Amino acid sequence: MRNRTFNFGPNPPQGPPQQRADFEELEAVELYCPECGQAMPVRKFLLLILPEGDKYEYRCQQCGAKVGDKTDRSGQFYSTLRG
Ligand SMILES: [Zn+2]
Repeated sequence: MRNRTFNFGPNPPQGPPQQRADFEELEAVELYCPECGQAMPVRKFLLLILPEGDKYEYRCQQCGAKVGDKTDRSGQFYSTLRG
């Protein structure tokens, strides 16, 4: 009788890949611009600071047309409000 431990090679490191939580607000976003007729790089403008979040508007870098908007919910605002 023989006791053998079979080793099929080193185990690959387990676990999820590290996610970058510290990415900056600099977004290289491309959105479809109806004026230019294609996806264009856009600029993000802060429009309003609302209780539910900061409202941003995306404008085409080429022609300046509004191509989208979004509301960023920071969450910080709520916690400070609630005290
Ligand atoms: Zn455009």
